[in-house]
Amino acid sequence: MDSSVAIQPHIAVCPSAGIGHLTPFLRLASMLSPPPSTDNSCNITLTLTLIIIRPTLSSAEENQINTFLSTHPHINSSHFHILPVDNNSSKKQDPFVVHYDAVFRSSYLLANHLSTLSPQPSVVFSDLMLASGITKPLADLGIPNYTLISTSASFFTLMVTSASLRTTSGDSDSDSDGDEIPGLGPIPMDDIPPFLMSEPDNNMLTRIIDTNCRHLHETKGVLLNSFDFFEPESVSTLQSGKLLATLPPIFPIGPFISVGSLKGSNNISWLDNQPPKSVVFISFGSRTAMAKDQIRELGKGIERSGISFLWVIKTTVVDKEDKEELNDLLGEAFFMNTKERGLIVKEWVNQEVILAHSAIGGFLSHCGWNSVMEAAQRGVPLLAWPLHGDQRVNARVVEKAGLGVWERSWGWIGERLVKSEEIALKIQEMMTSEKLKKSAARVGEEATKAWEIDGSSKKMFGKIIDNICQK
Ligand code: UDP
Ligand code: UDP
Repeated sequence: MDSSVAIQPHIAVCPSAGIGHLTPFLRLASMLSPPPSTDNSCNITLTLTLIIIRPTLSSAEENQINTFLSTHPHINSSHFHILPVDNNSSKKQDPFVVHYDAVFRSSYLLANHLSTLSPQPSVVFSDLMLASGITKPLADLGIPNYTLISTSASFFTLMVTSASLRTTSGDSDSDSDGDEIPGLGPIPMDDIPPFLMSEPDNNMLTRIIDTNCRHLHETKGVLLNSFDFFEPESVSTLQSGKLLATLPPIFPIGPFISVGSLKGSNNISWLDNQPPKSVVFISFGSRTAMAKDQIRELGKGIERSGISFLWVIKTTVVDKEDKEELNDLLGEAFFMNTKERGLIVKEWVNQEVILAHSAIGGFLSHCGWNSVMEAAQRGVPLLAWPLHGDQRVNARVVEKAGLGVWERSWGWIGERLVKSEEIALKIQEMMTSEKLKKSAARVGEEATKAWEIDGSSKKMFGKIIDNICQK
């Protein structure tokens, strides 16, 4: 970089709602402006402002934001108040989707909010859900805007092609094994979340995705929390322009680096006393609640497997509403039978700390993309139980990359009751397969390499930093 043209950039980072979307933005903010005590490979002085969407829906988001700001005192924050949620739709819709919709409808106000910050931002990093409202106004102001995608390169591919997929899926010559999508191969209809095949006029989430994807050509670039080794075909097809010539440059810079230290957690002391790689960690992310009969069946499956476990239970989609007593849910016998080899928690745990612990030998996960990247980073074998949204496409990636196994017949959430025998068998398979251990470890090594000098993600991140400095 030529220091004579160096400027002092002001970066604004704009997440959307929900932990799944907030988490990668907090990580990106920390990567762009690490705490002064840590190594700053960028060698530039910059100001960074985190835009905080108000109101937040979950306690987890509120807590993560507060912790982040207290551990990153050099990062500024600015509150952006969204329009009211659409109460007419909130009764039948997932509360997070209703919240996404309010963020989406408010996005046209955000460009003005950003332009009034002092100093005015010289570059913006924003969530896909905000694209339709801000890309054009920011371009008119001469402020480059990068869009950060919080899901896999593969699901992103599906999102940008879904409009044409909806047109061809009814064709009589459309393949029953699935339509061939560049970078993804043939994708069975069963792996595509049903909402994505609905017409945008009939589905809130499809409308949000469709509208925002149409504005991507106005952005300076698309950032992916993925890396070349993990999704080689999707990443290279997106970058080649073969999928869509109008896409801006694509920057795969994953796995995103953790925010702060991974030392210490409320559940670590129990793990400290477990043998290496003996415990299966079970968690379905921040906003997925299984039905109670399925939770009980999972409990029986864990018990039957004979494997030690650390299980995070969620019984409601929004954490504030979770009042269920575990004893009532699982029965006292379960706790008696497993007390020597299991720990169940209902509170928020630091998942990254847990995945980094030597006692963890496997992860039963819904395949939310942050969880997948956190497992990939540490080479933790995964048993995929995708439940909704992008998760089946993410599970395909996990399987193909050698990070995990997936039992496709378990279906979408609530499609059928997955029995304890099936669950026990799959947990045992994941925890004992030497082949899987090796291939998952290889993924972990490649994830580390991606961030070493000359690593694929490190180089891409360097390009973004250079762009920021030269504007
Ligand atoms: N997470 C955590 N503790 C919990 C539940 C979730 O640290 O008790 C974190 C997890 O590590 C991940 C994020 O919350 O970074 C969940 O995002 P993901 O994309 O995996 O799933 P989502 O919650 O969006 O379904
Ligand atoms: N959904 C569901 N059960 C849940 C949470 C969400 O069936 O516990 C559905 C929801 O109704 C919507 C889709 O999953 O159709 C949202 O998935 P999305 O991919 O947006 O989740 P994200 O990736 O944002 O976490």
